[in-house]
Amino acid sequence: MRFGVIDGRASIIDGGELIDVAEASRSLFSHDAAAIWPVWSEFTAWAAGNAAPAERRPLPPDAEFGAPSPRPAQVLAIGVNYGDHAVEAGMELPAVPMVFAKFPSCITGASDPLMVTQPSVDWEAELVVVIGADCRDVAAADAWGVVAGLTVGQDISDRDLQFAASPPQFGLGKSRRGYGPTGPWLVTVDEFADPDDLAISCTLNGQTVQGSRTGELVHTVPSLIAYLSGIVELRAGDLIFTGTPSGVGFSRTSPLYLAAGDVLVTSIEGIGDLRTRIVGGPEMGATV
Ligand code: ZN
Repeated sequence: MRFGVIDGRASIIDGGELIDVAEASRSLFSHDAAAIWPVWSEFTAWAAGNAAPAERRPLPPDAEFGAPSPRPAQVLAIGVNYGDHAVEAGMELPAVPMVFAKFPSCITGASDPLMVTQPSVDWEAELVVVIGADCRDVAAADAWGVVAGLTVGQDISDRDLQFAASPPQFGLGKSRRGYGPTGPWLVTVDEFADPDDLAISCTLNGQTVQGSRTGELVHTVPSLIAYLSGIVELRAGDLIFTGTPSGVGFSRTSPLYLAAGDVLVTSIEGIGDLRTRIVGGPEMGATV
């Protein structure tokens, strides 16, 4: 199943059609995706039995995609989780996951533009895990069972701010407004032949800047869930940004950063493309 937020409403996407969750369930489930996360298991059970015959309509060509989990309680992110990125960043491969928080207010959807007004704003293509149940102490062998689905994400990073203090302040540097694009939808785990090995890539203005496979993750999705859930309670709707492969802008011989007018497209096999339009300050308007 593909689940997302289209034109502000929780929706199931099936090919070129969508099912409005609130309408199809006669308001058993909310149009607000954030209200569905606490009852995700009930929702998926309902969807399995009722979504197929539900009324559908064509996906509008100008559909606005919001974040599949628009207001997560927690957004955990993993640094230095691909060997080639550790080399380019000049960092040691961590023996245990290197974890930081992105503040949830930075989470946006695929149709939201990213406002860039700082000089060193960088991209990081990432597989994002969406947790489907409140859980603690999940064994790695059981970890995929607590995952609602996978989506595409960008761990946008203001490098000057990230490294402005010592030790670095990853949380602030990666949490400015709009620094967590996710989407365009999540795909449930059952849809993947092998959810542990998916092609991931990123283009900037049509040029490929990152390309790898999630099979290269140093700490795998199951091991991350086991590790993290042994420390903090994971909540349904929480996001785990799993780290980025090599090819980010700051580690280039001549660093390259995002600027107004750029288009960043992040793609993961079996999920789709997260297309992020970069705009300058004035274009966003005073109230955004
Ligand atoms: Zn990252």
